[in-house]
Amino acid sequence: MSRIAYVNGQYVPNAEASVNINDRGYVFADGIYEVIAVTKRQLVDPEWHMQRLWRSLAELQIPEPMSDPAMRAVMKQVIRRNRVRNGFIYMQITRGVAQVRDHAFSTEMRPSIVMTARNTKAVVTDEMSDGVKVVSIPDIRWKRCDIKSISLLPNILGKQIAKEAGAYEAWMVDEEGFVTEGTSSNAWIVTKDGELVTRPTDHAILRGITRTSIIALAEKAGLTIIERAFTIEEAKAAKEAFVTSTTSLVKPVTELDGDIIGNGQPGSVTEKLFALYAAYNDDIGKSA
Ligand code: PMP
Repeated sequence: MSRIAYVNGQYVPNAEASVNINDRGYVFADGIYEVIAVTKRQLVDPEWHMQRLWRSLAELQIPEPMSDPAMRAVMKQVIRRNRVRNGFIYMQITRGVAQVRDHAFSTEMRPSIVMTARNTKAVVTDEMSDGVKVVSIPDIRWKRCDIKSISLLPNILGKQIAKEAGAYEAWMVDEEGFVTEGTSSNAWIVTKDGELVTRPTDHAILRGITRTSIIALAEKAGLTIIERAFTIEEAKAAKEAFVTSTTSLVKPVTELDGDIIGNGQPGSVTEKLFALYAAYNDDIGKSA
């Protein structure tokens, strides 16, 4: 079955889907995106994702390409036409096509919108992944990482450094020596006292939807959550560490810059959070 993309009002086979070379997304990376998990044909946390999408657009003065209900109708169609049971939906909105390459923009432009979806075996399984390695790198990004912009050069270069080092993720470190986040995930540690620590959502990080879900689940489970920045040294001395994202879920980190975290095995708090998140996803599927 060929996959179907939604491109500016039309559903087309992926192989035939294309955008204009004068699209400012292509020319300037002038746009935003969202990735939403689909579990048993249901979107995971759609309200929070849509909220973040509208906010990203507003921060960049990109007009809304369609209403919220229309957008959701397209999402439903993309899921249906690609027969996605478990997988991900990707949506990207750019400022649109400008015939002249000019840095400044008009706020009257018609945005471009693309949506694709793909199946995976299952987004969440009962089994958490093994512990992964992380390396640290300087955070060379701009000062508005709270916007889910498609300008991801520092992130992709960072992920490549991780890959070449045999690691799963790179944690970016700000000029004061504090970890901001992973190149495509939020960073967490568990202290010796069992407290969960993750950076507050200032402009230096993306407010991950998985992060928001995990905070809610952890609070419900009676865990202590402290939103503060931490250093690589503190993370190395922590009892546990993990990352969260829509695609990584809750993933244990057992090695940081070559040093073992905890006993080198995924920790019990991480395991508990993974189980809570898996159950939370399972419930979404059931309420369908
Ligand atoms: N930070 C960055 C830089 C990311 O790219 C992502 C993944 N989109 C996240 C955090 C995690 O966000 P979410 O939980 O919404 O996938």
